[in-house]
Amino acid sequence: MLPVSDDKFHEECGIFGIYAPGEDVARLTYMGLFALQHRGQESAGIAVTDGRSIALEKGLGLVGEVFGEDRLARLKGKVAIGHVRYSTAGGGGLNNAQPLAATSRRGSLALAHNGNLVNAAELREELSERGYLFQTTSDTEVIASLTAQAEARDVTTALISALGRVTGSYALVVLTPGGLLGVRDPHGMRPLCLGRLGSGYVLASESCALDTVGAEFVRDLEPGELVRIGPEGVESLHFAREKKAFCIFEFIYFARPDSRLEGVNVHEARRRAGILLAREHPATADLVVPVPDSGISAALGYAEASGIPYAVGLIKNRYVGRTFIQPAQKTREFGVHLKLNPIREVLAGKRIVLVDDSIVRGTTSRRIVRLLRGAGAREVHVRISSPPIVSPCYYGIDTPTHAELIGARYNVEEIRQAIGADSLGYLSLAALKEAVGLPGEPYCLACFTGRYPAGRCA
Ligand code: SF4
Repeated sequence: MLPVSDDKFHEECGIFGIYAPGEDVARLTYMGLFALQHRGQESAGIAVTDGRSIALEKGLGLVGEVFGEDRLARLKGKVAIGHVRYSTAGGGGLNNAQPLAATSRRGSLALAHNGNLVNAAELREELSERGYLFQTTSDTEVIASLTAQAEARDVTTALISALGRVTGSYALVVLTPGGLLGVRDPHGMRPLCLGRLGSGYVLASESCALDTVGAEFVRDLEPGELVRIGPEGVESLHFAREKKAFCIFEFIYFARPDSRLEGVNVHEARRRAGILLAREHPATADLVVPVPDSGISAALGYAEASGIPYAVGLIKNRYVGRTFIQPAQKTREFGVHLKLNPIREVLAGKRIVLVDDSIVRGTTSRRIVRLLRGAGAREVHVRISSPPIVSPCYYGIDTPTHAELIGARYNVEEIRQAIGADSLGYLSLAALKEAVGLPGEPYCLACFTGRYPAGRCA
């Protein structure tokens, strides 16, 4: 079995919120975070309010490791928010785990954030000069402190005033003594949807979390929309609006295939990408083999369109757990390996189309090609269901530097040689947009184009 280091973009966070008097909101949040675990495995946290005070529990690790019966039993109330975190901006550690609690003269609140502020550093400096003592290095605290300091009569107005100062990507759930707020940034970069649970409401990064708690999908929040959820139901405010720039990588890799984003099922978008990939880059081969799990949906589409049989040729060890997600470069390089094992009986003597969703540094692709050849594959034709990644992400995704991105430094033929494939084909940007199929062009495509819709970090 060959160790294969993880060479993917990483989603930074998943968020969940629930307003449901009479329900065990902490347990439902726990279940919702379980469904969002793929969006962050470094820390997990839940904050709950009974209308008077806010109780908060968080820790390092997977949701199931952080929360047991004891901890959940301490979280009683009618409103809750939860967060799972990978970590990019601000680094890891318990201090930066979310939700973050904050107090102001308007009372307590807790925030959970998915995204990244591109002007966090300058705002931190400004707030520090005004005497604010930061407890964390997370840019989420910038939003919390701007909200706490805003001259406003209520939390909603204070939050909107704070959001007027920040630039970048954010989906937020905010717990206040009076209820729950949900916010999407003016470009709608990161996902956030609303669901209904009996007489209550749920907010989540992905619809798969609504399914898990038995909530019915209502709609995605709109860019620049704030929803206020309380005893009167859901009230919607639009505080800003820019051209929509939804992260297309959610469809390529981050989101769970069973989720529906912006009205599109993720698995279906990936399968269509595979169909278009087969048309753009046909291959003469015996089998279509996915890199598990990221290449499965696109490989099914490629097989369907090409008529080449789909085969399971690589088995993923599903028990690698937390060793595989820690963000420090050192741990990535040493000992943190995702294990893949080839099935020799399937691969030996065959010409293989190997389908994956993306190539980041190229290290994993090279190892997998070598792995297939070692198992007897006669030819390996690599097909990627997205275009070459040429630029880093500044919007809440953990990406390597520009210099580490193989697509930024080499052309397709050079990458083919570097990974040792017999041929290499990437899906075009036009075909990727067609595969997702949203009307207009409401996407952030910055990692493929270098054009950043909401600016970039200095
Ligand atoms: S640059 Fe844009 S499309 Fe690429 S991962 Fe970041 S938000 Fe998503």
